[in-house]
Amino acid sequence: MRLSDFPQESRIVEMSYPTKVVFGIGALKRLPAQVERLKVKKALLVTDGGVVKSGLAERAIAVLRAAGIPFAVFDSVRPDPTERDAFEGVAAYRQSGCDGLIAIGGGSPLDTAKLIDLLVTHEPPLSRYDDAAGGDRFIRDDLPPLIAIPTTAGTGSEVSRSGVATLSDTGRKTVIFSPYLLPKAAICDPELTVGLPALLTAATGMDAFTHCLEAYLANAFHPLADALAIDGIGRVAQSLEKAFRDGTNLAARSQMMVAAMEGAMAFQKGLGACHALAHALTPISRLHHGLANAIVLPAVLEFNRGACVARLAQVAITMGDNSLAREEVLASNAIERIRKMESRVGIPTRLRDAGVREVDLPLIASKAFQDASHLTNPRKCTEEDLLSLARSSF
Ligand SMILES: [Zn+2]
Repeated sequence: MRLSDFPQESRIVEMSYPTKVVFGIGALKRLPAQVERLKVKKALLVTDGGVVKSGLAERAIAVLRAAGIPFAVFDSVRPDPTERDAFEGVAAYRQSGCDGLIAIGGGSPLDTAKLIDLLVTHEPPLSRYDDAAGGDRFIRDDLPPLIAIPTTAGTGSEVSRSGVATLSDTGRKTVIFSPYLLPKAAICDPELTVGLPALLTAATGMDAFTHCLEAYLANAFHPLADALAIDGIGRVAQSLEKAFRDGTNLAARSQMMVAAMEGAMAFQKGLGACHALAHALTPISRLHHGLANAIVLPAVLEFNRGACVARLAQVAITMGDNSLAREEVLASNAIERIRKMESRVGIPTRLRDAGVREVDLPLIASKAFQDASHLTNPRKCTEEDLLSLARSSF
């Protein structure tokens, strides 16, 4: 790197990894110690119907009961939550006299808990805090403590600074982003992901992979994020297929849980066009977030290739390419390897095969263009570029 590659005074960057992570098989039993450390007297346990049905919420409840920790339960977070979920959670928090939150589940309960946490001390509407409109400047450091317990290995929301919800004013899946949204503790217990069905393992795992990859390629200065991202890429390459084929493989599950954390820690650097499109595809086409990323990723990488050849070459090497080929060849190999990895875990190659309607593509491109994620895409993209990426993924 040359001196000019480092940030100069006009663009000094801030990097933060303050979440306490308790990681390991059986880590759930350490939950009470974190509740005590954070001096929470009564916690609101935020979760959703799926986590209740799987028995995982009950496992957390049993741990809290055994430790004599008072809590209330809010278990009605909807999949791909909207602002309404957060408002209902705030009402439950106030009615039960809580002073902290515990979130258990996938991205939906974890993100909703962050937004409940925000709205307990901040005035609505959530659109005021939209990252794309610079809303982070309105977020103060006075949120109650939040402990996050992931039951998927994908979003990494347990260690990320963002909460995502579809807002009522805009109908757009919106990113709220601030270091103050970071959970104070994350309990990462790979055992909690053992029951995740194969297709969800693939879709959430590809979300983790896309976080690592888009962050690694993002046009910004963040060497700490780069190191985490490239490590996560290697872990997913080694373990996603194993976790997909045998959900009880705890070593693979553990690797994926680390990669999910690394992806979310890394994307404080920024994401790219793939996430901009995925954020539009989910509310419009009801497509799972991880699946949306996975399907558009190859086209986005082809579009970006010329702008990040050296980094894509490094991705190929990290994923196991030892051909010693030229950088340009390695960059193509990286994209090919990613395509193959996706097909081995049952990801469809076309949006049309995942239920997306062609007539919706212009709207998807327009919403994606309003999403801040593409601002750090390694190659600058216009709304027309996003539309042609959506079309070529279709
Ligand atoms: Zn994502």
